[in-house]
Amino acid sequence: MTYRYLFGPVPSRRFGRSLGVDLAGGRRCSFDCVFCEVGKTDCLTRQRQEYVPTSAVIGELRAWLAEDGVADVITLAGSGEPTLHTGFGEIIDAVHASCKIPVALLTNSSLLTEPGVRSAAARADIVKVSLGAWDEASFEALNHPVPGLTFAGVMQGLRLFRAQYQGRLWVEVMLVCGVNDVPWQVERIAALVADLQPATVQLNTVVRPPAFADAEPLADESLERLAALFTPKAEVIVQHRGPEGRRRHDEHVEHLAGLSVRSATSLRIPGC
Ligand code: SF4
Repeated sequence: MTYRYLFGPVPSRRFGRSLGVDLAGGRRCSFDCVFCEVGKTDCLTRQRQEYVPTSAVIGELRAWLAEDGVADVITLAGSGEPTLHTGFGEIIDAVHASCKIPVALLTNSSLLTEPGVRSAAARADIVKVSLGAWDEASFEALNHPVPGLTFAGVMQGLRLFRAQYQGRLWVEVMLVCGVNDVPWQVERIAALVADLQPATVQLNTVVRPPAFADAEPLADESLERLAALFTPKAEVIVQHRGPEGRRRHDEHVEHLAGLSVRSATSLRIPGC
């Protein structure tokens, strides 16, 4: 069967064999991050909608479970921000009702400002949030958020989510040369991360051609040095190289990379 909303399973170093679910219906996101490997966001929005039919996604998941059904995790990720989809909580519930495979949600955290998003996200077994800024200016420089989103608001949403979430919270910090890689900047980020008391902190950097060509990666040695500033100590996840010598990293980016390899043009949204 050919799937429209599922991709993979892709191998992920932390998640194992991960089946991706793409709910954004293209490059639709509340951010336009300088490091994004899907490419520039076509539809910059915080408007939540049923961008792809919930029933069709659940139908594909049930078909995949009957046809293959082997994965270590089912991951809501993809070409944009999955929490923009109003049915993502229903999809998590449908997976839980159909199998024992845990659900991971990869989110940029921006919509955790909304109580409905927090309660839907709390149903995922693992929630991995991204955090790479420490104030409004760095948030603008790194993430290019949709107008109306503030760093203070996003952090407040994250703290409220942390207070209610019983599952495994992971934080991924994406560092970009010249944007958020100076030790005092990383210390500020690390202080915010520590307050969230995550189970795991992952440090990452730009690897594949990013959305903005001038977004440069950090050297491995710098990442290893900066990892010690986090509590718990961050795990550098950009450390394995492909056969061609290029660095590869996993989870969010591997999911994004899988999508961009699958069909870069099909991810574009004409108009928004
Ligand atoms: S990296 Fe993630 S949050 Fe940032 S623009 Fe790309 S899809 Fe959106």
